Amino acid sequence: MAYQQPALPYADNALEPHISAKTIGFHYGKHHAAYVTNFNNLVAGSPLDALTLEEVIAQVAGDAQKVGIFNNAAQAWNHTFYWNCLAPNGGGEPDGELGAKIVEDFGSFEKFKEQLKSAAATQFGSGWAWLVLEGNTLKVVKTGNAETPSTSSQKPILTVDVWEHAYYLDYQNRRPDYVATVIDKLLNWAFAAGNFAAAKK
Ligand code: MN
Repeated sequence: MAYQQPALPYADNALEPHISAKTIGFHYGKHHAAYVTNFNNLVAGSPLDALTLEEVIAQVAGDAQKVGIFNNAAQAWNHTFYWNCLAPNGGGEPDGELGAKIVEDFGSFEKFKEQLKSAAATQFGSGWAWLVLEGNTLKVVKTGNAETPSTSSQKPILTVDVWEHAYYLDYQNRRPDYVATVIDKLLNWAFAAGNFAAAKK
């Protein structure tokens, strides 16, 4: 059964002025949609078609014969996760258990922000910067291209897409400015708190 691209959790223009409706239109409507279309075309008629997206990612990860399926499946998953990591009127500092755990594991919220900014800025070429839970420790990691931490023992809590298509129309080459704006104005800490609660079970 064909995988359906989940709806955006907000309107195209809901993240303005930080991310424009034009960027969201291309990013969700063209880039993300293309991964979904390619994924469906690649698995059509195969046993993988009966699995969930998460099951396909787990099954084909590391399989050199199925790199195309992995790349499109992982990008389909990463993007839906990313849309949920952003919210109008987001940003600020997390409270509750996640906020306390960030201070415990990074030293302070400011130090966490610096690590996330650094990971996002230094990911060479396309990829993603993530907050993950590994064992009982929160960590900042970066992945290249379609790679996703969920194929390892790391559980994703938050991500920032640092492919150029995520920011070029609004920020051109200024990736650090895009990342700083996402962190300060758009991160959806309620979504992250839910991911953290589920991950530590
Ligand atoms: Mn993207």
